Amino acid sequence: MPTDSRTFLITGIASERSLAYAIASNLAQNPENNLILSYQQERFRSRLEEYSSSFGNCSLLLCDVGVSEDLERLSDFVEENCPQGLHGLVHAIAFAPADQLHGQFTNCVHKEGFLTAHEISSYSLAALVQAVKPSLQKAGGSVLTLTYLGSERVIPNYNVMGLAKASLEACVRYLAADLGPVGIRVNGISAPPVRTLASSGIKGIKDMVQYCGQNNFLKRVVTAQEIASVARFLLSPAASSITGEIIATDGGFSHACPIPC
Ligand code: NAD
Repeated sequence: MPTDSRTFLITGIASERSLAYAIASNLAQNPENNLILSYQQERFRSRLEEYSSSFGNCSLLLCDVGVSEDLERLSDFVEENCPQGLHGLVHAIAFAPADQLHGQFTNCVHKEGFLTAHEISSYSLAALVQAVKPSLQKAGGSVLTLTYLGSERVIPNYNVMGLAKASLEACVRYLAADLGPVGIRVNGISAPPVRTLASSGIKGIKDMVQYCGQNNFLKRVVTAQEIASVARFLLSPAASSITGEIIATDGGFSHACPIPC
């Protein structure tokens, strides 16, 4: 591995539409970057092998963040395979049972759905950071997660995932405060609606993408590639003073007035 190579652990690639795929593709444009792609289920592996052949320096690792043994294996893998430490961790993971993302929050929320959404979509950020903290510290690494406006606003059908995203954003700030003194930065990107496997579980996602594109300041749909460019910046030394932030990449949608003018 060249001495100035940088290593990134990227979670959450399930398809070529995944936001994590766009981020990995962007980072892979630098041939000196080394990527570790973790995936949730063994059935994703052949797909990941195909993607990784175009990414260059890449290794693959199974890690279901709901399984403690998988997190331990990930921790060992990173420790053994990143002699210069880990320069970036991309957390691009979210899940809630389908019945939580359809209809009114008050009617559909249940304890199991609430706990699962929070465990997989928010707690997993803290668990992943704990698993690779020594390697992040060694390289002065940067942690990045992906969130959504549903953390602050009531978005139809987003329901318990909005609560989980609010928790995730608070997690960013607590981690950033703890880890700043040891040189690790932690940030989130608040992305607009993009059609992916995860978002296809939210009723009305197609209309949400269109509405956001029509009503943001740019009057067009923001692409996964644009979100990936911001991710690359936040993961780079160019963003060395930014931590504890949630950066909106939604073309200004979150600032727009909903009243037609
Ligand atoms: P995606 O379906 O491509 O990615 C979601 C990933 O989460 C998948 O790769 C899935 O395997 C992984 N995952 C789920 N449960 C897991 C588990 N137990 N262990 C490990 N991995 C698990 O969808 P995406 O839209 O690219 O989602 C990535 C992130 O971006 C999510 O946090 C999502 O909430 C966020 N986000 C998406 C949008 C959007 O509209 N697509 C908008 C804002 C934020």
